[in-house]
Amino acid sequence: MSTEIPYSRQDIDERDIAAVTAVLRSDFLTQGPQINRFEQAISAHCFAKHAIVLSSGSAALHCCYAALGIQAGDRVWTSPISFVATANAALHLGAKVDFVDIDPATGNMSLEALKEKLDQAKATATLPKLVVPVHFTGRCVELEPFRRLSKQFGFFIVEDAAHAFGASDSSGNKVGSCRYSDATVFSFHPVKSITTGEGGAVTTNNPELATRIQLFRSHGITRNQPDFLNPSPGPWYYEQHALGFNYRLTDIQAALGLSQMNRLDYFIQQRRKVADFYTRALSHTSLLLPPLSEVSAWHLYVIRFPHQEIEFRTKAFHYLRERNIGTNVHYIPIHLQPYYKGIGFKEGDFPVAESFFQRALSIPIYSSLSKEDQQRVVQNLLEFISI
Ligand SMILES: *Cc1c(COP(=O)(O)O)cnc(C)c1O
Repeated sequence: MSTEIPYSRQDIDERDIAAVTAVLRSDFLTQGPQINRFEQAISAHCFAKHAIVLSSGSAALHCCYAALGIQAGDRVWTSPISFVATANAALHLGAKVDFVDIDPATGNMSLEALKEKLDQAKATATLPKLVVPVHFTGRCVELEPFRRLSKQFGFFIVEDAAHAFGASDSSGNKVGSCRYSDATVFSFHPVKSITTGEGGAVTTNNPELATRIQLFRSHGITRNQPDFLNPSPGPWYYEQHALGFNYRLTDIQAALGLSQMNRLDYFIQQRRKVADFYTRALSHTSLLLPPLSEVSAWHLYVIRFPHQEIEFRTKAFHYLRERNIGTNVHYIPIHLQPYYKGIGFKEGDFPVAESFFQRALSIPIYSSLSKEDQQRVVQNLLEFISI
């Protein structure tokens, strides 16, 4: 029996293990020196003024929306082709969630659909306070025109860049630089560009926003004396200024993240090589392939079946599964989840996203995927198409 090829996996080496064990022998397990070093490495990499690391990408989204002042009654729009956390974070704050349909070529939020929806919302006084484009598969949404709309209609932009740590836009702006956004959110879950086990980060150039995110990360508590509202009676004193959570990353995790960052560019380069190979090997087929990109983080390689028969994708999933090749589906459109149907969404609300989902299959891509295994994926896929 051939060995199992997962659809994704982390890449941990001895240097990562040494970095983690060094923290275990040190004085600090949480919020020690590794946190600051990891945050500085992220902000330097992204060319952002501030980076705040958090316990997960989902926590980072929640903090970021809260710090922007999203609250009950506000409207937050995102892409239906994302992980549920992008939308859930807004619901947690009592906001109303809505979606903007996608561009079928990339799976990213459609600029045209956004413009149309904004015009309609303006007419009915239901404009969003926040729009969250998702850099699906690591391919950057070109945000300059989104920024013009955000100024025209008065909404914030948070980039969900959970897939896109290490990516750039087509003009070479690093994702996370927040050139055209208020903040950018990353995830360090094991399938993402780098991992800390669980973990996430926000980057921003806005110092007040950074401070509010730091506050929210740790119960809304500050220990910074100049910020105190009352005179400090002693060095033990702290004040709670907001209602927050414990969303802290540990020093153990930060050390892992810092060590992983040394290989970030290598990880992306390896993923890009896998993507190049798949595209060359599959370009003569009827499959719809992702457009090649030198600047994508290549978190996912999503192929789409052109067939009208909807079960074709599911058959491909099973065919590859039986041959020990892991694949996945990104994503079940958020609005079709039972929970979201329960709050009023239905089939047909975002038809481009729904059709994308029905045809999509994510095939294995990760930095340590061997050439042999890449060939096995292609060979089996070609066999499946020919039957
Ligand atoms: C992974 C992911 C998240 C959530 O990140 P976690 O670290 O798993 O909480 C959010 N949005 C997208 C698009 C993701 O892929």
